[in-house]
Amino acid sequence: MAGGAVNRAHHRLGVTEAAGTGNGPGRGLRSGLMSEHEHHHYAFETLAIHAGQEADPQTGAVVTPIYQVSTYKQDGVGGLRGGYEYSRSANPTRTALEENLAALDGGRRGLAFASGLAAEDTLLRTVTKPGDHIVIPNDAYGGTFRLFSKVLSRWGVEWSVANTHDPESVRAAVRPNTKVIWTETPSNPLLGIADISALAHISHDTGALLVVDNTFASPYLQQPLALGADVVVYSTTKYMGGHSDVVGGALVTDDAALGEELAYHQNAMGAVAGPFDSWLVMRGIKTLGVRMDRHSSNAARIAEFLTGHPKISQVLYPGLPEHPGHEVAAKQMRAFGGMVSFRHRDGEEAAVQVCNRAELFTLGESLGGVESLIEHPGRMTHASAAGSALEVPSDLVRLSVGIESVDDLLADLQRALG
Ligand SMILES: *Cc1c(COP(=O)(O)O)cnc(C)c1O
Repeated sequence: MAGGAVNRAHHRLGVTEAAGTGNGPGRGLRSGLMSEHEHHHYAFETLAIHAGQEADPQTGAVVTPIYQVSTYKQDGVGGLRGGYEYSRSANPTRTALEENLAALDGGRRGLAFASGLAAEDTLLRTVTKPGDHIVIPNDAYGGTFRLFSKVLSRWGVEWSVANTHDPESVRAAVRPNTKVIWTETPSNPLLGIADISALAHISHDTGALLVVDNTFASPYLQQPLALGADVVVYSTTKYMGGHSDVVGGALVTDDAALGEELAYHQNAMGAVAGPFDSWLVMRGIKTLGVRMDRHSSNAARIAEFLTGHPKISQVLYPGLPEHPGHEVAAKQMRAFGGMVSFRHRDGEEAAVQVCNRAELFTLGESLGGVESLIEHPGRMTHASAAGSALEVPSDLVRLSVGIESVDDLLADLQRALG
């Protein structure tokens, strides 16, 4: 499952091309140094720490500095040093992150944005126009659904809902004007599993792009491009950042032409990741593998505990053999991740009470940090899906299982469940 090679230097896009100055491919500050790795193929954990992360050529600083700067001195008009002219177009800290993101997913191009939704918006407004149609999942992040249903719909982009966990339902939903098949796997908050390879066949038969929101799995657990997806979307706010201290998003594609178009729109629309935020995400990514291993093993223990609990009617975790997507998840994921949802036997108020009573599990939105979080999706993260095909059960509780001692986490849940 390990990601692609560091062999990116010849795929690197000219940062100045994205800015539209026509100076040709940027020779980034690190591009010469990248070549020392060009012919090596490293495993994921190595790429996470080294891809795009060359020591600073001037000082030898081992960690990419935070280039907290908006503009760059030119040596004569158009004489850019390293291809940088203005930080919306390109910034060295962001470039380092973007090269890292591309390497981790085995794609030719990675792009970093101010948030996951900014990445999604840039993608959708790059690949669709009024009159086009998108197939969306019946289980997705509430903010993604809001972007389709409240924002893009006003610009004349049509959407319809399919059960992306059933490939035939997706095939039936595709129309002649379908440009995008969107899926999230595992999905938020119901932990549904979509078969990425099966959806890739449908998208390639029909000419639509397959977009996979890989936020829950991270590239360590799942490699959508290798399974046939066209674009991978992240909220780097979650596992990639991993410490609940940054909001960010990313797109990765292996299609160089699409990557160029996305980079053009990233600059033209402007929702870029800032230097400090880029640095925080890079810092998080260095430990992604070890964190995901612990998130996954803690979550597996918790799912097992919840399965035997009398107050719980259903546990949603793809690692459980009874989960309907278990076999597909086992085929396409390295482990099953740190997200667990469950339904309370006594209904909505009882579910809310569990959230209120938990102590070590912090009551809050978001996910993917080292600390455990608990929330009630119906009233919190997914309130915007109320009354729609994406409405979530009111007795549902979602856990983002952190990397604390699992015994302490189990004791907290035991107490909160009463
Ligand atoms: C959080 C989240 C998003 C949105 O990302 P932001 O960084 O909050 O804009 C998209 N998809 C999934 C699965 C998420 O969990």
